[in-house]
Amino acid sequence: MGELPPLREIIARHGLSASKALGQNFLLDEQLLDRIAAIPGDLNGKQVLEIGPGPGGLTRALLRAGARVTAIEMDTRCLPALAELGETYPGKLRVVHGDALKLHHGELMGSEPFAILSNLPYNVGTALFVRWLGGEDWPPLWTSLTLMFQQEVAQRIVAQPNTSAYGRLAVLAQWRGYAKLAMKVHRSAFTPPPKVMSAVVHVEPVAMPESVSARTLERLTEAAFGQRRKMLRQSLKGMSGAVETMAELGIDPQRRAETLTVAEFVELARELS
Ligand code: SAM
Repeated sequence: MGELPPLREIIARHGLSASKALGQNFLLDEQLLDRIAAIPGDLNGKQVLEIGPGPGGLTRALLRAGARVTAIEMDTRCLPALAELGETYPGKLRVVHGDALKLHHGELMGSEPFAILSNLPYNVGTALFVRWLGGEDWPPLWTSLTLMFQQEVAQRIVAQPNTSAYGRLAVLAQWRGYAKLAMKVHRSAFTPPPKVMSAVVHVEPVAMPESVSARTLERLTEAAFGQRRKMLRQSLKGMSGAVETMAELGIDPQRRAETLTVAEFVELARELS
């Protein structure tokens, strides 16, 4: 396999000036990219879904690790650069041009399990994260999520009860996943640098607790954290049976949402499901 040209050269040759509208902040440090690609463990021979490859920095790190990559990219300008990368790794890279929010990832990937890795704009990343972890279908076909977020969002995902960062994202990520903050990434690592610091979050799915409806848990956390300063007996008033069930489970209705553990939310959702 020949040496790949530096990413800066690819960007210059293909005229890939970063577009603000597409949330483009590129990672060019190949050692850093190799470290991100190593977070899910050995990817040799494994199937990977990457969203938003851009000029292909993370993509080449994944290919170097021996993965077979399907990459969804919205920006037409990036396609020739990605095609060039595909020529260096014949049969290992499939590029899909489109909006990852509109595509059906399951149909695209077939029946073989796959790891998901991505460095995406904040709003797209959060929307996909909620979709991947939501819904009644469980366990998922994906084996892990390794995603770049702005650091503040990453901290909300791994937050523990009784902290201001703890909320709906934490419960969502932690009730059916083991979530950790895998790596902090300084803003200067990106071209152009974003205003805030970033961090990579890694989530592995765990078996879903039985008889719990994901939809009920979502409604519960929406109501509870929607009025997080209020006591639960107040914020859950609109959910039929919630306050009584809490009392039955020995959860004091005078508590506030952020004091409930993920397990307590799950218990409550199970009884209400
Ligand atoms: N992965 C590259 C890297 O680390 O250097 C690029 C990261 S850049 C932050 C995000 C990439 O996602 C851009 O290439 C952008 O065009 C792409 N993108 C943004 N929204 C998208 C969407 N809805 N579907 C697919 N790709 C998207």
